[in-house]
Amino acid sequence: MNRQQILDLYQWGDGVCFRHPGTTTDTTVIRTLQPLSGPAEEIRACHACILAMEAARRAAAEGARIPYVPGRAGEMLG
Ligand SMILES: [Zn+2]
Repeated sequence: MNRQQILDLYQWGDGVCFRHPGTTTDTTVIRTLQPLSGPAEEIRACHACILAMEAARRAAAEGARIPYVPGRAGEMLG
């Protein structure tokens, strides 16, 4: 699976990456936090961060001998 195929698993839109604050770029929602009070907060990640997280998930899956399933980078955040 190449980079573009991985990126195609996510829905992209303008936002701020959680690792790259201060810049609006193409991002996808990887997690939604629901505070006890107030509006839900979206955690977003950019292309580079999604690819890095997917690479880490793939390595972890191979190390644990479990199938790697791309498209779920948010699970990295526990
Ligand atoms: Zn990023």
